[in-house]
Amino acid sequence: MSDFDAVVVGAGPNGLSAAATLARTGRKVLIIEGSNTLGGGTRTEELTRPGFRHDVCSAFHPLAKGSPFLSQLPLAEHGLEWIQPDAPLGHAISRGRSVMLERDIAATAAGLGLDGATYHRLMTRWADLWPQLAEHILGPLVGIPKHPLTVARFGLNSIVSSSFTTKHRFDEVEARALFAGCAAHAFLPLTHPLSASFGWLLMLTGHVFGWPIARGGSQSIADSLASYVRSLGGVFETGTMIGDLSDVPSTPITILDVTPTAFAEMAGDRLPSGYLRRARRFRHGPAAYKVDYAVDRPIPWADPQLGRAGTVHVGGTDADIDRAETRTYRGEVASDPFVLVGQQSLFDDTRAPNGQHTVWAYAHVPNRSPVDFTDVITNRIEELAPGFSETILATHVFSPTDLERRNPNYVGGDISGGAHSAGQLIFRPFPQANPYTTPIEGVYLGSSSTPPGGGSHGMCGHHAAMKALERA
Ligand SMILES: Cc1cc2nc3c(=O)[nH]c(=O)nc-3n(C[C@H](O)[C@H](O)[C@H](O)COP(=O)(O)OP(=O)(O)OC[C@H]3O[C@@H](n4cnc5c(N)ncnc54)[C@H](O)[C@@H]3O)c2cc1C
Repeated sequence: MSDFDAVVVGAGPNGLSAAATLARTGRKVLIIEGSNTLGGGTRTEELTRPGFRHDVCSAFHPLAKGSPFLSQLPLAEHGLEWIQPDAPLGHAISRGRSVMLERDIAATAAGLGLDGATYHRLMTRWADLWPQLAEHILGPLVGIPKHPLTVARFGLNSIVSSSFTTKHRFDEVEARALFAGCAAHAFLPLTHPLSASFGWLLMLTGHVFGWPIARGGSQSIADSLASYVRSLGGVFETGTMIGDLSDVPSTPITILDVTPTAFAEMAGDRLPSGYLRRARRFRHGPAAYKVDYAVDRPIPWADPQLGRAGTVHVGGTDADIDRAETRTYRGEVASDPFVLVGQQSLFDDTRAPNGQHTVWAYAHVPNRSPVDFTDVITNRIEELAPGFSETILATHVFSPTDLERRNPNYVGGDISGGAHSAGQLIFRPFPQANPYTTPIEGVYLGSSSTPPGGGSHGMCGHHAAMKALERA
């Protein structure tokens, strides 16, 4: 046995949250990270030019701000400061035509024409019920909910497809496109069951928490968590990639911020054959193809209101998004993939020097796609912001395989920790009595391949650590 009470492998937001959960109980925790820097998906680097600080992965944080665990921690004392862009989200429908998700429900409804009243009624109801929903949406589906009727009603709205929701709830292009763009975060065709859940969740959290960015970059989320863990006696070891579980110091609790497939590789014949089979069958979804730009001025959107948004969805109508997501899901190359654009430097002047700016963008593409989507992404932005190409000073590209090379959790470029097929979304990683336990005593899985899934909320790691503490 080592001098530590617990080991966490992987220092993404989930690994760091697991470490914080354990360290708060007085346990001495060792965190082993394969990369030379902490943070996993919450890192910020000068990818293009000196002084241009780009969020490598995660950029917008409704789920971190709203995380029932992270919001309990004194992260502001450890350097974390949230910045709320003027509007969480703009959705570009066509050149000069867009729709906004504002913090305020009434202000959003005012931009939705005939659908405004329906939108206002639905969102006000769910926003009021958020405190009853949060722990179930951001936790494992085990046990009887404290508010079964509310959870069942939200479940019925979420279990259906985005297409069903937009068809039955909304009449106009604007509301349909806005909802569909949020639902597309599921990386599913919009006709798939459960795709509506992402639409409701992201729009609702936009109203309840905003879609904030971290001052200085998403790295501040990781750095503040790491600083908090250090203040509780936690010890970090970076640059050590664990290939075999036997290389992890022996302690009563081990939490792994890795995918089920990676766990199967690490543990090998220590796992029963049935578990190994299920872990190896775990499926990964479509990928991200990411381009970071250093630019000499803000994006010249044809519709200037898009300049008020932290995030812009370059998606078109709900039908356009469904067509692109369906092709991508099938492994085909879409000529007009769904693109997400981040304009953090408009709201945080630490991101770029001398009035210049950073642009963060990624497209949904097939898993492990070898195709170069750089020009496709640039052209999609140019189409809505004529002159954008002339503002570019430098670019940096992450293909799906580049993402995986940097972080083995992004298998084939899948940034969600696993495909969102119905089985894997509800019973993540696969059906078993508890999603975080493994057949090896004291060893738990706490990455985004466990509930509640992708996003920088830390709740997977926190729940895994809570389960470990309960058993210990
Ligand atoms: C391009 C992109 C954009 C995104 N945008 C957003 C966004 O705007 N908002 C949001 O909430 N989420 C976003 N995400 C998703 C978010 O980053 C992830 O869901 C989140 O980081 C998952 O956290 P995690 O701790 O489970 O895993 P990760 O953050 O992936 O961290 C895992 C860590 O474990 C380490 N590791 C893995 N295997 C080993 C090993 N064997 N030994 C040692 N160390 C190991 C890795 O190096 C890594 O540091 C985005 C992701 C990407 C890639």
